[in-house]
Amino acid sequence: MPLPPSPSEALSTAVDGVEVLGALSPSRAADFMTCPLLYRFRTIDRLPERPSRDAVRGTLVHQVLEGLFDIPATGRTPERARDLLVPAWERLLEAEPELAEMFSGDADDDTAFDRWLTSAREVLDRYFSLEDPRLIEPAERELYVEALLDSRLLLRGFIDRLDVAPDGRIRVVDYKSGRSPSEAWEGKALFQLRFYALVIWRTRGVIPAMLQLVYLGNGELLRYVPDEQDVLATERKVEAIWRAIQLATEDGDWRPHRSRMCDWCSFREICPEWGGTPPPLPEAAPADPCGLTAEDVG
Ligand code: SF4
Repeated sequence: MPLPPSPSEALSTAVDGVEVLGALSPSRAADFMTCPLLYRFRTIDRLPERPSRDAVRGTLVHQVLEGLFDIPATGRTPERARDLLVPAWERLLEAEPELAEMFSGDADDDTAFDRWLTSAREVLDRYFSLEDPRLIEPAERELYVEALLDSRLLLRGFIDRLDVAPDGRIRVVDYKSGRSPSEAWEGKALFQLRFYALVIWRTRGVIPAMLQLVYLGNGELLRYVPDEQDVLATERKVEAIWRAIQLATEDGDWRPHRSRMCDWCSFREICPEWGGTPPPLPEAAPADPCGLTAEDVG
């Protein structure tokens, strides 16, 4: 059954085919670059995916870090952050009761949930080795942003945290619960933040002074200072991805691209690269084929 549209779409300018020809988020653009068939399964077919423990731990830690900044600065301690974990998990579970199924395969191992929660605690503790949240007052958290390009392509997404210095310099921060990439993959990892730098430049007229990825899996920061050439190159890249998506849509040609990402793909059983057969394309295209998903939010 296709997934219902994300509630976050309510924030977004509608894709009407006239003023706005299409929309793209960094996650969906990255899907297409990774594998056009993966993009199709997620955004055209909207096939459901079983939540993975790693992904849900990432969402949980994001929520705790967001909530941490609701506490007055002096109280933002590791102990206080840990106290937020279980209530945040309970809220997640209330919103999506099916998350409980993540542990249903471990009927013989009643420690699976506790071990998972402990790993979330460790990830959270690592945050405090990278930043001191008592010294940070974010200007925005989980900020929805969008910008309409001259081509009438709408760029949109959610920024984890935006810091604005007294002199107006902007830092875009994104939390990753995994490990930092090797040098060869840094450019790919930074694509999402370059995308946001472009959106901020187009909407606020300023290029962020700093893009910062916070890798909580191994406690590393990846920082990058973008310039005008960077954001212009990102704009050209995003437009090219969009043209390629339109071509694939017109031709119905969503080619699989086998890579190490297949190891994490939910769709191997229906992927021709792995001996599967994709379902027929839906007869009607989704109203908003580039809808935002939970991945864009956290
Ligand atoms: S298994 Fe690999 S090739 Fe197939 S859809 Fe997923 S990412 Fe693409």
